[in-house]
Amino acid sequence: MSAYPIFLTPVCKERLWGGEALRRFGYSFAQPNIGEAWAVAALPDGDNLVENGDCRGMTLSQLWRERPELFGNPDEPEFPLLIKIIDAREDLSIQVHPNDEQAQRLEGRPYGKTECWYILDCAPDSRLVFGHNAAVSDEMERLIAAGDWTALLQQRKIQRGDFLFVPSGTVHAIGKGTILLEVQQSSDSTYRLYDYDRRDAQGNLRELHLEKCIDVTNVPHHEVSYQRRTIRHPSSTQEILTSNRLFQLSRWEVRGETQLDTRSPYALMTVVAGYGKLHHGEQAYELTAGKSVLIPHGCEGIVVEGELELFLTHPGKEPEAAESYRIGVDIGGTNLRAAVVDQAGQIVKRVAMKTFAEKGPDFVIRNLQQMIGSLMQEYPVTHIGLACPGPLDAKAGIILSPPNLPGWDRIDLKGKLAATFDIPVTLDNDANAAALGEALFGAGKGKRSVFYVTISTGIGGGFVYNGNIIQGAHFCAGEVGNMIIRPDGPAHPMLNQGSWETLASGTALNRQAQQIDQRKSLFQLEQEGNAQAKEAIEQFVANLATGIANLVHILDPDTIILGGGVMKSRHLFWEQLHRAVDERLYPQLRGKIDLQVAQLEDDAGIIGAAFLEPGA
Ligand code: ZN
Repeated sequence: MSAYPIFLTPVCKERLWGGEALRRFGYSFAQPNIGEAWAVAALPDGDNLVENGDCRGMTLSQLWRERPELFGNPDEPEFPLLIKIIDAREDLSIQVHPNDEQAQRLEGRPYGKTECWYILDCAPDSRLVFGHNAAVSDEMERLIAAGDWTALLQQRKIQRGDFLFVPSGTVHAIGKGTILLEVQQSSDSTYRLYDYDRRDAQGNLRELHLEKCIDVTNVPHHEVSYQRRTIRHPSSTQEILTSNRLFQLSRWEVRGETQLDTRSPYALMTVVAGYGKLHHGEQAYELTAGKSVLIPHGCEGIVVEGELELFLTHPGKEPEAAESYRIGVDIGGTNLRAAVVDQAGQIVKRVAMKTFAEKGPDFVIRNLQQMIGSLMQEYPVTHIGLACPGPLDAKAGIILSPPNLPGWDRIDLKGKLAATFDIPVTLDNDANAAALGEALFGAGKGKRSVFYVTISTGIGGGFVYNGNIIQGAHFCAGEVGNMIIRPDGPAHPMLNQGSWETLASGTALNRQAQQIDQRKSLFQLEQEGNAQAKEAIEQFVANLATGIANLVHILDPDTIILGGGVMKSRHLFWEQLHRAVDERLYPQLRGKIDLQVAQLEDDAGIIGAAFLEPGA
């Protein structure tokens, strides 16, 4: 018997917080509170029935047991995935799920629950709970005991099309007015942290599982995401939302006829909108919203046709062992971010958490070791690069009391990490790392000499020549913020009077705006025709241009890249800046300076850090 597309009957579930919106996916039900449609499920309390062909009438779990060849003869004891469409008419309780090890220990079940959400629809200003603010478990317990949910829980705004990866151990709650597609491990292990003190029809509170919640919650909270990528095909668009060890999920917009990527071992199709047909050999099947199809192992040449929005889920995939990856880390005063970067400079996975700098270097370094350790379990990694705020000794790998990491006095960061991980660890300041990232993979790609300037609250920079950061004799090369532009300019507690930073940084612009109107930015005021703001911006452009012209006269680089928050308003001064730079150059250089805008934005530092070379 040959493999054929197997249509599954979804299972609708009543929930206290459910509604009627799932009817739009073609599901019919009498109850007014259907919260979940289990589009693909093989659990005891929800098991899809096969609708067609030789396997008609069998359940999905039965297929898994009795027809393993349809799934490519897998090793797993139970079907590993669960796909739901969820309608939250009311807020869901605040909850957390265990990982595999915890589910086995606490529940005797094989799988924990890592899930992910694609927001299909939501009310304007929708929010959900995602993460918490506690630095340590004691603090979490204290806030729970005090009922201080506002202090404990993190909320975030969502909109249609958002995608969130929710690893086990993440405190979360879907907010009311949200309709989403959920792909998760096949598990129903949920620990309830808080239910807004709601009572059911009988006046009972739902059970909470505080001890288990505290046991399984990741503290501090950290966010994990995989790179989202879009691939355009002739008559469809494929968006890869995640590809990880547990599941691979992509969203397809089909317009016309398209061959789907249903590679082995098997695929699960969930249609959420539109109408069309699925062709397999001579057979054609109707596709409408709400249809759920298993494309079994060996069922090749699936073509869909029509106007459809659908999701394809494949079982998880380990990263290619033949590939090698690097880890870049960005240590900021507010956030700690780490990413796995491939050899082409693309981020494949990222993790972020709050720094909790006030807890001191040991606390932060312990979190850092855990973040890096978990990434190294998943990917074959050859280098770890760290971008830190200066001042620091890049060669020795020592941090020298940076202003935004209080208490970090001569910390041997490189040594501490090199002792934990058996691969090269390198360290440089954040501006140099960003310069390297932009030079190798951003606006300076392919250029021999690149000077990068970041203009945000301060001004920093870095010079990259032949792919190497020029660090200087005392690791201060490129620290252009202290360059004197106007000796009679504003004073600064740490920097030279009239330095570039005092005249052309975001802080300098804000200071001027404050003098005119405290509620507005200088650029807003200029747009409104304020003459004083116009003059201040002309001065800012002149000062910025003076600094750039100075750099050209010293280094004459192939490219000067400008990045940082202030460049978000560049359309308001870009032309003037070019002119002002030219006015300050030798005539033979005019019109020849390649001024570029940074391309990698917030990722420049983390990508550059991954490519810091030991001993460069
Ligand atoms: Zn959940």
